[in-house]
Amino acid sequence: MRNLRPFTYLGDYINGAFVLPKEKSEEFESLNPGNLKDRLSTFSTSFSHVRLASEAAKRAFPKWRALPQEERAIYLKKLYKEIETHLDQMAELISRETGKPFWEALQETQGLLGKITITLEEGASLISEKEVPNAQPKLMGRYRYKPKGVMLVLGPFNFPAHLPHGHIVPALFTGNTVIFKPSEQTPAVGQLMAELIHRAQFPPGVFNLVQGEKEVGRRLCTEPAIDGILFTGSYDVGLKIKESVLSHFWKTVVLEMGGKNASIVLDDASLEKTLYENIKGAYLTTGQRCSATSRLIVTEKIADTFIKEFHRLSKELKIGYAFEEGPHTPFMGPLISQAALDKYLRFQGIAQREGAQVLMRAKALEFTYPGYYVSPSICILSPKKEFSTYLETEIFGPNVAITIVKNVDDAIEEANKTDYGLVVSVFTKDKKAYEKVFQETKTGLVNWNRATVGGSSKLPFGGQGKSGNQFPTALFAPFYCTYPVACLEDTQDMIQETIPPGLPLHGKN
Ligand code: NAD
Repeated sequence: MRNLRPFTYLGDYINGAFVLPKEKSEEFESLNPGNLKDRLSTFSTSFSHVRLASEAAKRAFPKWRALPQEERAIYLKKLYKEIETHLDQMAELISRETGKPFWEALQETQGLLGKITITLEEGASLISEKEVPNAQPKLMGRYRYKPKGVMLVLGPFNFPAHLPHGHIVPALFTGNTVIFKPSEQTPAVGQLMAELIHRAQFPPGVFNLVQGEKEVGRRLCTEPAIDGILFTGSYDVGLKIKESVLSHFWKTVVLEMGGKNASIVLDDASLEKTLYENIKGAYLTTGQRCSATSRLIVTEKIADTFIKEFHRLSKELKIGYAFEEGPHTPFMGPLISQAALDKYLRFQGIAQREGAQVLMRAKALEFTYPGYYVSPSICILSPKKEFSTYLETEIFGPNVAITIVKNVDDAIEEANKTDYGLVVSVFTKDKKAYEKVFQETKTGLVNWNRATVGGSSKLPFGGQGKSGNQFPTALFAPFYCTYPVACLEDTQDMIQETIPPGLPLHGKN
């Protein structure tokens, strides 16, 4: 097994330098949920850093905005090289702070590189300047996109590098400056991201890092210098953020939130592929994905075989420590915290009290490395008749609720019984059934014969309802980082239009 690198806490990154807080307003610890003996460091922050970082980002904005886009792209290309050189180190920290298997952490780091390429190549063209001849008679019009100012990025723990980076890169590229607050559960990954930006020699103040827990996040949101909040996290916190800045009407608030995603399996689905995709959907990252499949809706004829096989595979998944190798390499690691583990087990009780039949029981597991390991769990439900706390709550663990229905219409009705709206998948050979699911559900992503997990950075990614407020990220991120400006351009000295009556001018200069 690998030797883990030592980790040194450097403080917050403000105005181009790492600074340790003089007085400590908050202290919290980063530890490995897959090996509780692996404690990375104690982190702290001073509330005064909130203002310092905001001022640094605000000061840096005019110069950064004034750079041609091609010059900002040069900095991002340098960042690409730094990430590429530090892929292994980054993946190691991701695995240590989240517990996700090392192979999966490596995939996350590859996503960071892809994000830079896609932003520079495809994102840029979305916000390129457009000429509109005859916008008014004989007059050239143009629309051009301008950056908004200082963007605050608030990150979640489950993809601690990829998801914040998905906001940071387009924000910087389009000319905004950034303050990043990583999740308090993954501060070391956040620090490494700041170190790589430092190595790429971005001008001071263009990117800033402030570590902290929710109070730091709250204070950052309400800083007057902040022009946009780019949040990825839970619905409850998203709602609090929106409420906290109601009177800050000028701020763009982008909320990428949770899911309660349904996967519909119809009778004609190809069994092996459907099993593979849905096992992935339900259990990758130990079910801790916004796009995780938490509801499986299966039609009657395929139900018995599908459920039997799904159950068998669920029992055989390899669960374990992120850095195990060879035949011990795990498919899934632990949950993120004791609180997450308690919630996961608690919801089994809630499901049972609401009438669910437990096919596979959720259990806390003990391994050589002490951590928050759990078994997957499966509940069988009868089609939902009334409100269910179990079915309305994002459990964020490897739990699936299976409902058996008669046909695609019933499946769609079942899928729509949630206030979340991130992803829906349908498994069928019938394109018409896919089209029906597309038309009659309300989610930001609709997948055909593919798991609910595994979105593409080359497409928009965002949810409806409790999943998001209609500012999709991924490919579309440049839109919420900018605002369009309409320009009418008249280069003639002569008045170009008929002068209205009652005005003593003759249309001549
Ligand atoms: P979380 O909501 O608990 O925390 C997210 C961030 O918000 C953290 O940095 C946290 O410190 C900060 N925060 C907490 N309270 C705050 C407040 N009052 N003001 C400002 N900031 C505050 O989320 P998490 O547990 O880290 O991540 C899991 C959640 O994220 C799940 O709900 C998951 O579905 C969601 N998620 C969504 C997407 C998406 O793209 N839609 C992607 C990944 C994760």
